[in-house]
Formats: sequence, C-alpha cells, structure tokens
Amino acid sequence: MDYETLILGAGAAGMMCAAHAGPGVLVVDHARAPGEKIRISGGGRCNFTNLEVRPERFLSQNPHFCKSALARYTQRDFIDLVSRHGIAWHEKTLGQLFCDGKATQIVAMLLREMQAAGAELRLSTEARDIGHDGSRFTAVIRHDGRDQPVRARSLVLATGGKSIPKMGASGYAYDLAAQFGLALVPPRPGLVPLTFPEGRFAALAGVSLPVRASAAEAVFDEAMLFTHRGLSGPSILQASSYWQEGAPVTVNLLPGGRLGQILRDKRRREGKRALTTELAEHLPQRLVAWLAGETDLGGRLGDLSDRRIDALCATLEGWELRPAGTEGWRTAEVTLGGVATAALSSRSMEAAAVPGLYVIGEAVDVTGWLGGYNFQWAWSSGVAAGRAIAERLREA
Ligand SMILES: Cc1cc2nc3c(=O)[nH]c(=O)nc-3n(C[C@H](O)[C@H](O)[C@H](O)COP(=O)(O)OP(=O)(O)OC[C@H]3O[C@@H](n4cnc5c(N)ncnc54)[C@H](O)[C@@H]3O)c2cc1C
Repeated sequence: MDYETLILGAGAAGMMCAAHAGPGVLVVDHARAPGEKIRISGGGRCNFTNLEVRPERFLSQNPHFCKSALARYTQRDFIDLVSRHGIAWHEKTLGQLFCDGKATQIVAMLLREMQAAGAELRLSTEARDIGHDGSRFTAVIRHDGRDQPVRARSLVLATGGKSIPKMGASGYAYDLAAQFGLALVPPRPGLVPLTFPEGRFAALAGVSLPVRASAAEAVFDEAMLFTHRGLSGPSILQASSYWQEGAPVTVNLLPGGRLGQILRDKRRREGKRALTTELAEHLPQRLVAWLAGETDLGGRLGDLSDRRIDALCATLEGWELRPAGTEGWRTAEVTLGGVATAALSSRSMEAAAVPGLYVIGEAVDVTGWLGGYNFQWAWSSGVAAGRAIAERLREA
C-alpha cells in the first residue's frame, strides 16, 4: 500500500495535519476512537483555544521555536473554522474559549475536514517496524491480527506525549524520533497537581480560594484547591509546569495585598475583634482554623503590633511550600519536554536530518499554559506540517 503521507496518531495534531496535507494521506491510531483527549477535555466542552495565545505562554528549551507556527495558523484561524462548522462557543475566563455544547463537536469537525481532504483513517490499528528503504518510509500496520505493509513519502509523528497512559498515551513518538536520531528533552509531567508528605493538607481537602502561585519566574493568579494528597487548582497546575524538583512554590493567600492596611485600620476601630474572626472574612474558615494550628493567630486586633502585622502578612502573602513531587503521568494534563526543537524546522516541523519526517503536537518540546494553549499548539503545528507536505507534493 503506497501513500504520500502516513500520520501516526489521530489526535488533535494528527487530524489537523491530515486535513491540510493534500492527497494520499493515511492516519493510523491504536485507539478505538479518534481525538479521545479532545472528547474529555475542558470538562467535556473542550477549551479549544485562547484569545491571549502568545509565544511567551509556551515552555520549551527554545522559546522562539513556537512563534512561526503560531503566527501562521492563529487562534483566529481556528475560531473561524469552528464558526464555519456552526459550532457555538463562548469565552469562559482569561480568554479561554469553550464549546457551548459537547467537545465531540470538535472531533466531528476535524473528521469532516479530513474527509473533505480525502484522508483515510484506520482505528484500532498498530504501526510497527517503522523504517526507511532509501526512497520511502516503511511500516507494518496491524488491524484485527492482520499485517499490512505500508510505504509513504512522508511520515508524521503525532502520537502525543506520555500523560494519562490509561487513555493510550505511549511515548511512541519519542522512541521513533530516537530511532531516526532526533534528540529528546527528557519528558516530565506538566499541568499536574503537586503532592506533599502524607496528610499535610488532608484536613483541608476540598477547600478552594483565589491565590497567586509562583514557581521559578512564573506567577499565576487563579484558584488553588487543597486535596488529600496536596495542592491542585489552576494556579498550582500552571505553576507545576515551571516547578523543578526540590524547589519551593510560593503561594500568596491574599493576593489583593491589602491585609496589612485592613488590620491597621481595624486595630483602631474594632480592637476587641479576634484576629481569627477577621481573617475568616478574607480566607475560608477551615483554612484559618488550620493555619491557627501552624502559626500564632491568637489574640485580638487591638493587641497587634506593627511588627506582628508585618510578620503575619509576610507569612500569608509569601507562604513557601516544598512539594514532595507531582501526581505524575496518571493525572498530568500535558507532557513537558519531548522531541528537541533543535532537530526540527519551526516553519514545517520537518526534521532537518531526515527529510520527510515531521513531528507535531505534544510530542514536540513545546508545552502551553493551561487554558486552550495546548490545543492551539496542536492545531498550529499540525497545519504547519500539513501545508509543508502539500506544498512539496505540488512541487513534485
Ligand atoms: C484530561 C485532559 C484535559 C485536557 N484539556 C485541555 C483543554 O481543555 N485545552 C487544551 O488546550 N488542552 C487540553 N489538554 C491537553 C491536550 O489534550 C493535548 O495537548 C493535545 O491533545 C495534544 O494533541 P496531540 O495530537 O499532540 O496528542 P493527542 O491528542 O494525545 O493524540 C495522540 C494520538 O495518538 C494515538 N497514539 C498514541 N500512541 C500510539 C501508538 N503507539 N500507535 C498509534 N497511535 C497512538 C493516541 O491514541 C491519540 O489518539 C487536556 C489533556 C488532558 C489529559
């Protein structure tokens, strides 16, 4: 079976690439359904892009690599596509765009686009023995116990990262990239809850509040959630992508920055009020009760010295925490690291040393913030490779 292009992975990036890669495309996926991560994303409504997409919101060893693809297929382009397919959407918060209906509308849209481009999709199909015979890429694809050899001029690795192995995430792209001599940035879990030694926050499980969480140079103003195993919520998931093992995460529990002024004002006007009663006006009651067991919150407002107010603010606004680790691949929303960008063209995603080999989506060492950024990278990198393949076919 000869094809122009063999795409491994019918996820967000692979399907988008197939819709743009011109004639003769075969897409192979070992899952029973395409785009499974799209289906479960955004609580079933798919946060498909973000109005605020910009290169600084992506992590990579080369922060410039993502610029070209993101500029040539933007969030506006994807919004136009979604709107052309009659899919209703809304902005939730922080520029995050979601379907009004179900995430499966996005999967159906991509399948229609693939169909219109004439791409063939084989599901429940494994690809093995990937190689190159000197003129074309070769593979054996297996479906229902039957093997079939395949040859293709171009090979696209779109099998994603390692997060959520239960959903078929495999790290396959890394093995194949290594087989063709491409370097890897060690993959690690990103957008993932942070864990703390047994029971540290167990009493607070379920408590949520708006905070400012920072790790390394990154700062995120969003909600934080205490869990039985540690900390989660958007601010922590975001910070987790920047966190390095052994380093601290700093949490400002009162990001408004007004606690000191409030305590000084109320010290005069409501001096008999207990400090814990006042703090419970600004923080969840359960958290105040827990903090009272960790640090001295005794006494009344009228008894607070300036020094004690300053020390209290420093504690609550700069709470330094040292996570023991993360919840790992089981719950990580994305994979940091992956195929090193140094090996790839930022315009086409093609490997410089292996003409015809492309790597797209999460398999590449480009990882976005929480909030639609990772799908935008999948769309943009998928289109970049697809257009480059189609262009080459037109020139041939
Ligand atoms: C729970 C969850 C929620 C998310 N929500 C959002 C969100 O709302 N917004 C957002 O921007 N991002 C979200 N993400 C991240 C987003 O889903 C990914 O970044 C994106 O799907 C990556 O696209 P991809 O095509 O590179 O990989 P994937 O979408 O993971 O697709 C890879 C495909 O390759 C197939 N595959 C894997 N190994 C093999 C193999 N050996 N042989 C054949 N096929 C194989 C898989 O079955 C899969 O179909 C979420 C992730 C998770 C886990």
